[in-house]
Amino acid sequence: MPGGTTAAIQHARSNRVIGMITVGCDRATSLAAIAVAADHADVWATVGLHPHDAIQGVATIADLLDQPRVVAVGEAGLDYFYEHSPRDVQRQAFAEQIQLAHQLDLPLIIHSRDAWEDTFDVLAAEGTPERTVFHCFTGGAEEASRCLEIGAFVSFSGIVTFKTATDVQAAALLVPLDRMLVETDAPYLAPVPYRGKPNQPAYVTSTAQFIADLRGIPIGMMATATTDNAAAAFPRTAPPALLTPDPDPRP
Ligand SMILES: [Zn+2]
Repeated sequence: MPGGTTAAIQHARSNRVIGMITVGCDRATSLAAIAVAADHADVWATVGLHPHDAIQGVATIADLLDQPRVVAVGEAGLDYFYEHSPRDVQRQAFAEQIQLAHQLDLPLIIHSRDAWEDTFDVLAAEGTPERTVFHCFTGGAEEASRCLEIGAFVSFSGIVTFKTATDVQAAALLVPLDRMLVETDAPYLAPVPYRGKPNQPAYVTSTAQFIADLRGIPIGMMATATTDNAAAAFPRTAPPALLTPDPDPRP
């Protein structure tokens, strides 16, 4: 969010988003995430090497994992849709980042696109970290079940609100409330009714509202669950910043 980071954070706060994690995908974006988190008490950072950038090598980011307010390893994973890095290089970088998550006792944030079998294979070989999040989940009920079987959280982006995303909606019905997260993947994938616009953290409430309606539960129940789950998935997002949402929204 160049130039508009503070405005976007303030907009999110006014929409009752009480905490945000901004992710790194290579060294430069990991450093940018750390810098934003340093300036805002309700923002935390991750450090990771995205599968697109796997060719750069995990050594380009590993030294940043001990920086203040870094709460997870990732985005890490496999993307065989774009395949910007060769598949074997992606698998190696993914495996190394899983090892770092184990060594540093950090949660793992997974990006997996068109690569489910290999994603589960690498996780099985390295051992799934105790706290693992499948970010921007794009699978259906079957893939969601496999994520749940290995103890992972499933995080839904604005995709779930798209009319054609019936598979993802089936997954959002299947995943238990205590294993579900919502996210923006900003600036991409803005949820309905913002679809096509640059996404921002404030809009995550539309994704949460959509899933609440889909499941026939009050939005407050969805907000409480996803807030609790975020605290469980990312223990280093410690209180006092991550508090229960204010029941009385300000105007
Ligand atoms: Zn991703």
